[in-house]
Amino acid sequence: MSLLQVKDISHAYRSSKRLWRSGSLTAVLSKVSFAIEPGQCLGLLGTSGAGKSTLGKVILGMERPRQGRVIFQGHDLYNVDPQTARLLRRDLQVVFQDCYSSVNPRMTAEQIIAEPLDNYENLTRVDRKRRVGELLEAVGLKAADMQRYPHTFSGGQLQRINIARAIALKPKLIVLDEPVSSLDMVNQTRILTLLSELKATLGLSYLFITHDVKAAHVISDSLAVMKEGRIVELCSDKNQLAAS
Ligand code: ADP
Ligand code: ADP
Repeated sequence: MSLLQVKDISHAYRSSKRLWRSGSLTAVLSKVSFAIEPGQCLGLLGTSGAGKSTLGKVILGMERPRQGRVIFQGHDLYNVDPQTARLLRRDLQVVFQDCYSSVNPRMTAEQIIAEPLDNYENLTRVDRKRRVGELLEAVGLKAADMQRYPHTFSGGQLQRINIARAIALKPKLIVLDEPVSSLDMVNQTRILTLLSELKATLGLSYLFITHDVKAAHVISDSLAVMKEGRIVELCSDKNQLAAS
């Protein structure tokens, strides 16, 4: 069974919030379908405005689509009881492009990384610290960094913290929305390498949203190309796309 099935998703935004009764609808996604298998990374390529982030939000349960279904681990994400929704949400994490606005500047690295643990697991203070320390080391930082605040980290380091938070609950799928796009080239390569390693060791699946064809090739097993809200190319063998 596929881990994630996106079935005929269509979505539109109102052109004006204030005039929502009369505001016209602008189509953003049109009949988007694809699947992600366990342990696989699907690279979702497309230029700015193609609808990639909207699709990411639909998959994360953040934006209810006007049509279609998102089946995650056999459940229809927008048609489940709240308890199941909460359990599914735990297995579905996200890393956004903007590493600084993704974190609360008043929280320490420890608080940021422990947030999902606090939501789902009732850990003792000692266990919580130990888990955060392990997570920091898993993403190439030091346990001693846990008392530092976001502004004391570089962009690359902060993205590692966002990744640590995303893997804290050992999720099944992580939506990576342009996770390296605001980093310099050296850090882009380092973070992509880290993501590849974590995928292998933790058996993660990714939806990797990017406008960068090269980055997509580094960690994706298959590729989809979006244009004006539609999937215009879908390659289960990424080398096929490279050739075309
Ligand atoms: P709907 O009522 O169609 O579901 P929303 O409640 O999502 O639409 O509201 C959409 C409104 O949010 C738009 O009118 C727009 O002004 C605003 N908006 C928010 N983010 C964006 C964005 N990235 N691009 C354009 N408009 C945006
Ligand atoms: P991408 O991630 O490929 O750049 P997006 O999904 O962010 O594409 O945006 C697709 C289109 O939807 C764009 O035209 C954008 O302006 C519009 N859009 C995104 N979010 C909203 C919103 N909340 N309200 C209205 N329009 C939006």
